[in-house]
This record gives sequence, C-alpha cells and structure tokens, in this order.
Amino acid sequence: MQITALTGGIGGARFLRGLREHLQARSDDWSGAEITVIGNTADDITLFGLRVCPDLDTVMYTLGGGIHEEQGWGRADETFSVSAELAAYEVPPDWFTLGDRDFATHIVRTQMLRAGWSLTDVTAALCDRWRPGMRLLPMSDDPVETHVVVTGDDGSRQAVHFQEWWVREQARRPALEFVFLGAAEAQPTADVLDAIRGADVVLLPPSNPVVSIGAILQVDGIGDALRATAAPVVGVSPIIGGKPVRGMADACLSAIGVETSAAGVAGHYGARIAGGLLDGWLVADEDTSIAGPPGVVQRSRPLLMTTPGEAADLAGAALSLALELRG
Ligand code: GDP
Ligand code: CA
Repeated sequence: MQITALTGGIGGARFLRGLREHLQARSDDWSGAEITVIGNTADDITLFGLRVCPDLDTVMYTLGGGIHEEQGWGRADETFSVSAELAAYEVPPDWFTLGDRDFATHIVRTQMLRAGWSLTDVTAALCDRWRPGMRLLPMSDDPVETHVVVTGDDGSRQAVHFQEWWVREQARRPALEFVFLGAAEAQPTADVLDAIRGADVVLLPPSNPVVSIGAILQVDGIGDALRATAAPVVGVSPIIGGKPVRGMADACLSAIGVETSAAGVAGHYGARIAGGLLDGWLVADEDTSIAGPPGVVQRSRPLLMTTPGEAADLAGAALSLALELRG
C-alpha cells in the first residue's frame, strides 16, 4: 500500500505526523503502508550563502521529533549565537530567524549541493538522521522560488522573495501576483512522478493552497500526473469558518481571486471529474452547510490539529474517505 501526500510546512507536517500515528494504530494492510511526501521547495531561499528549505525542514523536524512544538517551525531548545554574531557584523538580513541548531542543517545541505548531490539525495541523507518514517521528496531537484509582486512606495510593481513578503512584511502589502521563478523550466523528479502514478491513495493535507500545494502544482507534469492517477485524491481544508487556522493564507488566496473559504479552496483545486484534482474533500463541522464542487464527495469533521491525537484522527478520516472512494 502506497500513500502519497503533497505538503507545505506546518499544516502538512502536523497532518503527516498524525497519518503516521494513525497507520501505526491500524491492524489491517494499511498499517504497513508506505508514505511518500512531495514537499514544496518554492519557499526556499539562499541566506548567508546557505540554502534553506523551510518546508522540507519543518516536515523533517516535526516527524523526527526536533521541532519547536509551539512555534511549529525551527528547532526545539534553540540558541541564536550565530545570528547574534552576524548582527554584530551588521550582515543582513536580520528578519529571517535562523538558530544555531538549524544552521547546521543548512550547512550540511549546502555543502552536499555544492559537491554535486541532488536535493532529493541531500534530503534523504538529512532524513537518515531524523528518521521521519516516510520518504520525503522535494518536488523538483531544480530550484524554484516564489516571488510576490507588490506595489512599491513609488507606485511601481516590485517583486520580492516570498519569505521577505511573508516573514519580514507579514504579508502587509497586498500581493498582486505570485511568480514561481524557475517553475516553467523545473522538472519533477522520476521519484515524484512514480510516487503519484504508483499511489493507492493521494492526500492533500491542509497546506497553503497557493504557495505550498499551489507551488508544487506549478512544476510541469505534477498536476497532470495527479489528474491521471488511478488513486483517489482526498484533500483537507486549511480554512475553517472562512479563516486560515495559522498563517496568512487569506492574503495568498485573495491575490489569486479565490474566496477564503473551504468551498473556495475546493473550487480552486477543482473536481477530478471536471478536469481538476479532487475526488474527496474534508471540511470543518462549521462549514457543513456550504456545498463543495459537484462531483467531489465532501465530509465534515473537526479539522483542528491542536494535539497529535487530533491530527491522527483527522488523517484517519482522510484515509477512510479515500478508501471509501477506492471502492
Ligand atoms: P507553511 O508552509 O508552514 O505555511 O505550512 P502549510 O502550507 O503546510 O500550511 C499552512 C496552512 O495550514 C494554513 O493555511 C493553515 O490554515 C493550515 N493549518 C494549520 N494548522 C491547521 C489545523 O490545525 N487544521 C487545519 N485544517 N488547517 C491547519
Ligand atoms: Ca511554507
């Protein structure tokens, strides 16, 4: 049994940790299911000469037990000596938090990339330490970076790196457009396409539909593979009662003209029978009354993942809807 999931950072990572826990508690064939995760790399950024992959690291640290739980990203028990020294040298940027433990990950990754390893192989090597219990694949070995087009002080259109807009500006300037630099030339890896084609079930966790899952879908061939796979595709809404649970997904959705609602996101992904992605869709109990796209089987249930147990229940519900749709 093969489960393939697409993921961004926090929402996806918590869901995947729940999925692992849910599978461990099962006593049927699915308890031994292999999970392959296709991670968003369009949030990646080079800082101080180091390649930082925030979403891959959030997934790796969460599943490997190294995450700062309350914050949802970064390492637990972190210290910031290196950042303080860089600030003393007045070397920018000072708006992206990198702790000492986290720095080590980026140093190892950058060293391996410079030695010619692919990001897929580097990620596997980092995961040898963290043992996430699933295979973590970057969406592509080619660099893709999301940039956000905003209006500058002089009224002109300016593009800034997604992290600068998200972290430094807290998405305060309205996004006019997202540009996924490199996406048009980027190729999905053979591992990514095989994971989609060979899946028994495909899950879309509650990740940001625009800059996490949406960025993965920008890579040529991934959307087509999803639309063509024999596996049912089940998604989980990141929006509850018209609001994102964490983060500023509403600022991303409005930029692409999608309503911030469970139905808006489902409509954005589209029904597979109408050329979209979804066969099934989980919404929060408070969103039960809003109909999803025709042809998508919609169920409601609690969608908050405050505890690992809640995440396991949610992942179990997504899997059971998928199994029902497999018939
Ligand atoms: P990021 O890369 O760290 O921004 O993380 P993701 O793209 O994986 O997830 C961000 C999305 O997860 C946001 O749109 C949130 O609304 C959603 N999210 C976070 N926590 C929860 C939760 O407990 N339940 C649900 N349903 N969605 C969540
Ligand atoms: Ca992210």
